[in-house]
Amino acid sequence: MLKDLVNPTNVNIYVSKLSDVLIKAVEEPLGYAINWGRIYSLWPVHLETGCCSVEFGAASSPRYDVERFGMLEAFGSLRQCDLIVVLGTVTRKMAPRLRMVYDQMPEPKYVIAMGACAITGGLYLDSYNVLPGADSVVPVDVYVPGCPPRPETLIQGCFLLQEKIKRSKIK
Ligand code: SF4
Repeated sequence: MLKDLVNPTNVNIYVSKLSDVLIKAVEEPLGYAINWGRIYSLWPVHLETGCCSVEFGAASSPRYDVERFGMLEAFGSLRQCDLIVVLGTVTRKMAPRLRMVYDQMPEPKYVIAMGACAITGGLYLDSYNVLPGADSVVPVDVYVPGCPPRPETLIQGCFLLQEKIKRSKIK
């Protein structure tokens, strides 16, 4: 009976079906575990040129304590960090540096644009040397609006990023 079912002509089909079943069985729990690790160990580096940096710093203070939500303080080196928070205006002169910082970070990496200046150029929108948003240089995952956004808003932005990571597929 088994001989009739499995023979040299169709054994490859069975093997490929079996591998599909195995991949489906481990893909979801493995992806969940890997994403869970990524969500609660976000390590930011910040590129700051404006007053939003005070709010960013306040988010790590004992009052807001962003670390309890799985985002470390911004003390790492670029080659360890997986999240870049862009604060303040990005000038044309700074744009290649921002890209260089982003390129040095290991995959997977995420970007938060914090404040009106980082999102649109803010007050300096019409300036000859300010870019209309960090997303013209790096791919932004989450926009945190405000001028400046309060630390709670940044924390809310982190939750949105964590939700996005949770839904992402492992490559
Ligand atoms: S968004 Fe407002 S607070 Fe933030 S850097 Fe620009 S001007 Fe300053």
